[in-house]
Order: sequence, then structure tokens, then C-alpha cells
Amino acid sequence: MAKNKLTRREALKLNYRALVIWQRLCPRLLLSIAASSAFQALSPYVTIWLSARIINELAGNRNPKELLRLVILQLASAAILALTEGILTRWKYYEMHSSDCVHGKIYMDKMFTLDYVDIDRQYVFDLYSQILQNNNWMSWGFRFTILIFEPLATAALQCLGGICMTVSLFLSIVPKGSRFAVLNHPLCTLSIAAFMLLATVLSPVCSNRSSRYWTKFASSAKLGNRYFSFYGFIRDERTRAEDLRTYNQHENVYVHYLKHIDIYSSGGEIVKLARGPMGMWAVCAKLISGLLTGTAYLFVCLKSFAGAFGVGSVTQYISSITKLFQGISDFLKYMGSLYSNGEFLKTSFEFLDLPNAMYQGSLTTEKRSDRRYEIEFRDVSFRYPGSSQYALRHVNLKFRIGSRLAVVGMNGSGKTTFIKLLCRLYDPCEGQILLNGIDIRKYRYDDYINLFSVVFQDFRLFSLPLGENVAGKADYDRGRARKCLEQAGFSDRLTAMPEGLDTYLYKEMEQNGVDISGGEAQKIALARALCKDASFIILDEPTAALDPVAEMEIYSKFNDIAGDKTAVYISHRLSSCKFCDEIAVFHEGAIIQRGSHEELVADETGKYYELWHAQAQYYVNTG
Ligand code: ADP
Repeated sequence: MAKNKLTRREALKLNYRALVIWQRLCPRLLLSIAASSAFQALSPYVTIWLSARIINELAGNRNPKELLRLVILQLASAAILALTEGILTRWKYYEMHSSDCVHGKIYMDKMFTLDYVDIDRQYVFDLYSQILQNNNWMSWGFRFTILIFEPLATAALQCLGGICMTVSLFLSIVPKGSRFAVLNHPLCTLSIAAFMLLATVLSPVCSNRSSRYWTKFASSAKLGNRYFSFYGFIRDERTRAEDLRTYNQHENVYVHYLKHIDIYSSGGEIVKLARGPMGMWAVCAKLISGLLTGTAYLFVCLKSFAGAFGVGSVTQYISSITKLFQGISDFLKYMGSLYSNGEFLKTSFEFLDLPNAMYQGSLTTEKRSDRRYEIEFRDVSFRYPGSSQYALRHVNLKFRIGSRLAVVGMNGSGKTTFIKLLCRLYDPCEGQILLNGIDIRKYRYDDYINLFSVVFQDFRLFSLPLGENVAGKADYDRGRARKCLEQAGFSDRLTAMPEGLDTYLYKEMEQNGVDISGGEAQKIALARALCKDASFIILDEPTAALDPVAEMEIYSKFNDIAGDKTAVYISHRLSSCKFCDEIAVFHEGAIIQRGSHEELVADETGKYYELWHAQAQYYVNTG
């Protein structure tokens, strides 16, 4: 993460870049905010100006017709302004709410398209969780740019309006002979204007210095925020509820929670800063602003007292000058916030600018109804990023089209890694994987991955209706989804489901949702793989959570289930691989044996024989 401090210019550039993205994603958002800001900034001046005219008339000519005209004008403008404000505010809120989804989508799109290898990287994880924390904290980052845009634009326009309304204050002349005629002297006018300007700038400078401590605090709060986000919400995680109760984990949770969120406590870092320099700068800001208001009142009242303008103009000048100062002060303050936000945006863009380093091919795969796709691993070796150990070493393997290949081996022997490479989640460090003789890197990834249906060991289902889980979309062929569930051995359970295919899984999204066992989930995942109807079906430990009866049921039907697809079946339970045409035995990342069950079990010196007999004792009837 960034260590160097940003310059103001860089911070502004980052905010500008964020605004451009907002403008591209929500074309009417900035316009609605700008319109609302302009209105908020300028409309009070209409009231101020009309009120001043009314008071001047009351204190001067007292012409009833003119008074009536001014009052009607005041009332009519108040009504029109209120109506316009309502319309503009409503439009702005509509656009703001619509932008909420877009905001989440900015990161979602990036997350979904990151190279798989990057998802595992601690650096990427840190970056992303930091962005989330910043956003949860004070909407820092993208959201802040849009939130600050409104008050910033309002403040800028307020300054503009204020200047127009107060120019005449400095230009108006005190009548000659008055003892306050010195106020006409250009030096006097200039020094008062200069003092006011200085105080107007100094107050927000102090205020910014105070709020800058928040940015300083951001890095030290990082760990605290992470603990807070994790331990603070464990109570909501249903999947932890059993462990929490059985192991009394809540006591340990409290220890970590309270220890690491100490920064937020009464003796914590924030409070210390608030008592110290942060609070001191805030007090200075308030003092200077008080001094400024006092000077403005004194100057305006003296000029009026000396006869430069009427009492009505006093209200106009005092109100306008206050608004002008407030505008300048707000503008500088918000510019300071914009600057602070630069640091947070830097993190956001660091994440959004992460390149896709994996080579993206452009070839499309040949569309074959006979599924004659041949895969070959040619001398493939692979090491996980940052690891010195090879997870796969010199793997050579050709898949026979339409065959059933079993990949067996002990835990950690490289079976899952082999599948991850096949699915191009990672690229080999050495060697090549070929599809019909062409390196798979040369194919378009979305096209290539369409050839595979995989049930990963750690697959996840959604808290959505069962049928939607199987089909992967809301609008699906119900007959097909039902058939796939049936093939996966889920028929009985489907019949028992209260709303059949429309039954929600889990209760996160629907209180009438059903909880399912690990084995049932595995069957649904298998049905999902079948529903995709890809040319390769890959099952990674597909029966680990099934009971022996269900396991047998799947094996006996597996040939039918896989049909004309090429199937890869991974398991460390050897008895479940006997039905496969060929078995590849993995050991320490290499394929050390290949053949049918009968061939391999006959080789008494081989690893397969050793594993088979080690496992046989667990099965009454191992065959
Ligand atoms: P299996 O599926 O046969 O149990 P794996 O393919 O999961 O084995 O793992 C092979 C080796 O690669 C193991 O030594 C494992 O520790 C290592 N490994 C697996 N995943 C990662 C990862 N994401 N990063 C680093 N090493 C990994």
C-alpha cells in the first residue's frame, strides 16, 4: 500500500478521476447534484435581497404600494423556491440512491474479473478489505467524492453569490464630514477586507489540520478495523454458532475484540488526539471564525451608523457576508476533505488498476457436437505463487475422449492443483496444457471454460431457489433441472421439498428456506454440473459428504450420468474409483502410476497397492 504522501495536485487528480467514472456510470447524478447545489447556494440570496428591500422601505419612504409589491414578491418567491427545492432534492435523492448499486458494482466487476491467482494474494486481500473498511468508516473513497461534490459545489456558488451581494458594502461611501469618514479611505477598506479574508482562510486551515488527524489515524486503525469487522460480527455467522457454544469461544472472541478495538475506547488513540492537537486546532478554528463575525458586524454597523446605507442593507450585508465567509470556509474545508480522500482513493485505484497478468488468448474453441475434445498435459510443472515447493512436477497425461479418468493419491499429492490448472485458474510454470493440440492459453478463457463442469471440493450454493441453483439462472428449463437432480440422486429429497424447485436453500434470504446437509448440497452441486452439459465433467471428492448408500448409488449410475462426456474423478478413497477406465496415481506432485484398477492392484510394489490395502481395512466389502 502507498507509503508516500500525496500532493494536493495528485489528490485532486484522483478525485477528478473518480468523478469521471461516476459521470460515466451515472450520467445524470452529477447534474442533479450540481442543480441542487446551485439552488441551495443561490436561493437564500433572493430572500436576503428582498428582505433588505422591505426593511429599507419600512425605514425609508414607507410607500404602501411598494411595500405590498415587495411582500407579494417575497411570498411568491418563497413559494416558487420551496417548490423548486422539493423537485431538485427529490431528483438528487433518486439519482443518489440509484448510484448506490453502481458503487458496489465498481468493485464487484473488478473482483469478478481479477486473475484467480490474485484472489489468493495477501496484498490483494489487504487492499480490498482496506477499501471496504474505508467505505464503512466514513464513506471514504469513491462514495466520498460524490458526497463531497455537493457541499463543495454549494460552497463555491455561495462564495460567488456572496461576493456579488457584498461588493457594494466596500464601495459605498460614508458622507463627508462624518467622524467615520476614515472608513472611506482605500487603505482602511483594504485592510479590513484583507483581515477578513485572512481570518476566513485561517479558520478552515485550522479546521483542516484538526481533521487531518483522521487520515493519520487511518493506518493505525487498520488492524483495529479488521478485528472489529471480524470479531464484531461473528455473532451473526450462523455457521459458527455450534462451535461457539461447544467450545465456549465467545470468551476468546471478547478478548480479541476488546484488545484490538482499543483505539476506539475512552483511553484510545482517537480520544487522546481529540484531547490534544486535534481538539486544539478545532478550538482555534472556532475562535478565528468568531473574531471574523465580530469584525464584519462592526464594519457594517459603523458604515450604516455613519450614513453609508440604510438599515435594510445592514441585514443584507451581514447575512451575505456571513454566507460568503461560510462559503469560503466550507470550500476550503471541503477541499481539505477532498485532499484527505485522495489517500483513500489511491487505495481504491491501486486495486482497480491491478492488471490482468494472465495471457488472454483470442481463439475460440471448435464447437463439436461429438465432444471430440482432447486434453493433454505435456511435461507440466507448477509452483503456487510465493511457494518454493512444486505442487506438480513433470506431469504428462492425455485424456482419452469419452473416458472416465480417476485421479487418486494422498492428501497434498497435487490432485486439486491438477484440476485448477486444467481449468486455467493458474497457468503452468513449465510445460503446456493442450486442447486439440493447441496451448489452452491461446483460447479465449470464457470460451474454453465452457467446456468444463466442475464440482470443486469447496463448492458453494446460493441462498436462492433450488432450481435456480441448479440452472444458474432465474429463467430456466424446469424439466431439465428436475432431470439433473434426479440423476444426481436427489429425487426423494426434491419430492419432500415444500415448494419443489422453487424452495429456497438456506434461510439467509428467505425465512421459509430449507437447510440441507453436506451430502444433499453435494448432490445439488452435481446436478448443477450436469445441467451445464459441458464436454468434461470433473468431480473433486464428490462423495466425501455422502453416506455409503448414497455413494454407491452415485457410482452405480456414474456411467449413465457422465454419458458421452469425458469424466475426471478425483478421490483419495480408492474404492470409489474402481469403475473408472483409467486411474492416475499422484504422489508428491507427480504421476507415479497409471492403469486400470486390476492392473494397479496387481502391482504389489506400487503405491496404489499400498494405498488400496491401507484403506481396505475400513471397508467390509472392498472387492
Ligand atoms: P490434493 O488435492 O491432492 O489434496 P493439492 O493439489 O490441494 O493436493 O495440494 C498440492 C500441494 O500444493 C500441497 O502441498 C498443498 O499444500 C499445496 N497448495 C495447495 N494450494 C495451495 C495454495 N493456494 N498456495 C500454496 N500452496 C498450495
